[in-house]
Amino acid sequence: MLDGYGREADYLRISVTDKCNLRCRYCMPVDIETVPMSEILTFEEVAETVRAAASLGIKKVRITGGEPLVRRNVNGLIKMLKAVEGIEQVTLTTNGVLLPEYIDKLKEAGIDGINISLDTLDKEKYKELTGSDELDRVLGGIKTALKTDIPIKLNAVSLDLEDAFSLVEFVKDKALDLRFIELMPIGYGRDHRGIPHSILITSIMDRYDGAESDDTGYGNGPAVYYRIPGYKGRIGFISALSRPFCDNCNRIRLTTKGYLKSCLCYDTGVDLKGILRNGLPEDARKEKLCSGIKEAILCKPKSHCFISEDNISEKDPMSRIGG
Ligand code: SAM
Ligand code: SF4
Repeated sequence: MLDGYGREADYLRISVTDKCNLRCRYCMPVDIETVPMSEILTFEEVAETVRAAASLGIKKVRITGGEPLVRRNVNGLIKMLKAVEGIEQVTLTTNGVLLPEYIDKLKEAGIDGINISLDTLDKEKYKELTGSDELDRVLGGIKTALKTDIPIKLNAVSLDLEDAFSLVEFVKDKALDLRFIELMPIGYGRDHRGIPHSILITSIMDRYDGAESDDTGYGNGPAVYYRIPGYKGRIGFISALSRPFCDNCNRIRLTTKGYLKSCLCYDTGVDLKGILRNGLPEDARKEKLCSGIKEAILCKPKSHCFISEDNISEKDPMSRIGG
């Protein structure tokens, strides 16, 4: 359906857990209080929400978190969502640590794409950045994932120029797109500064003769892509601050606590868990869920407010919202 500014909302991101096996310093640097299991939507509740959302035009769903693979049987949820009429794509964002163990189950569940997050290839920096020594497992996860026919993307938050250069070298012979993401002032991200993409894009592209922008046929996604001669995949930049993509924003977010958020930046939204657990019969519940989802879509703001940080009303950490 269309939001109040005429944008089609067809993409739902779902945080299935706020727990994580890493402690990325810009996301969850310390052990924070986690949402009790009783407050987290069950898979059946998530599926019920997705059925209602699909009836309103949601076509794509991304499972995220926290780390989605730490929630038991997340592949079972993927299977359930793949069966929902109207849902054309179910994808996953993961830090990759558990990917070697999970890849066959994800494939079997019918996953349509996996985004793996990796900000540095330097073992020591990885340890410092994530609080853990899991780089080799993540690299193993990428290798295993690339052996399947699942479309893979590598996402890196733009924190350090040298790390960015190494990542660009790393993907040369790999059939995947590498996307750099500008650090957003959400949650613990407020305490950190990344590299502005105005600098990063020129720094990377100046290193490669013949690198050129590739803006053909990739729809309204937030990334701007470039091609480097000899590369199998593309290099993309998601620049929420330098080049906001709010005019084409098509997404809403279901938090771990079952709150449907209209925009990453604001705490505006609708409590769907309250509707799911209000004891109404299924038909009446679906009707209420649909009006809740419509309300959240209709109150999507025109744009985010990352530039004027005082206006950011979202106080939850990224792990709970679902990055
Ligand atoms: N744990 C999974 C992972 O790391 O891919 C999924 C959840 S994580 C919150 C999703 C993505 O959000 C990751 O790529 C992470 O780097 C990114 N992220 C977290 N905090 C961010 C911030 N403040 N600005 C930009 N990206 C952020
Ligand atoms: Fe965990 Fe992902 Fe946040 Fe890192 S970015 S702490 S892996 S949820």
